[in-house]
Amino acid sequence: MDLLTPPLADITVDGLSLVGEVTAEELGLTEDDAVVRGPLAVSLDLTNVEGLVAVTGVLEGTIVRECVRCLKQYEDPLAFSVRAAFIPEPKSASRHTKRADPRKARVEVVEAEEEEEPDDQYQYQGNHLELAPMLREHVILASPMQPLCSDDCLGLCARCGKNLNETPCQCAAEPPIPTFRVVQSTKRKTGGSSAS
Ligand SMILES: [Zn+2]
Ligand SMILES: [Zn+2]
Repeated sequence: MDLLTPPLADITVDGLSLVGEVTAEELGLTEDDAVVRGPLAVSLDLTNVEGLVAVTGVLEGTIVRECVRCLKQYEDPLAFSVRAAFIPEPKSASRHTKRADPRKARVEVVEAEEEEEPDDQYQYQGNHLELAPMLREHVILASPMQPLCSDDCLGLCARCGKNLNETPCQCAAEPPIPTFRVVQSTKRKTGGSSAS
């Protein structure tokens, strides 16, 4: 189980290679985050330079997504590179005493926002790294906002609801509903007649 919690002592300047498989549960991924089919293959290289641990590698697996056009579930093979840096968590205990003065607490929040860290920077505590939250974030960030089963998915017919990828329906052959024309002719009639 050292794969997701490598001891700092093992990570040297020469580097540490971690290769193995992890499950969605081990990463803390819920079904709302991503539906993972099978284990995820992880291959990471870690190097420690004076407390700053650089992590690079690859994460591979299969995610089940729902197409936004045809609403069908499809398997999305996933392979992306992982890049992150871990720094030691600052030792100051001020973080944990957050109740005295609400006004002071707000100042602290503003300060924290000002010195924004790069997105891929994480902190570690104690004598090991926690890789699971970082990998979980990578999986979530790799999810498309508008998942499509294929770029040219035909989607569902707006009239009969059939999946047009499977069977073409007859709706397209029928003339479109002439909504626009109906509206126009009503207008013309009201304007034409003279008031008596
Ligand atoms: Zn689709
Ligand atoms: Zn149809």
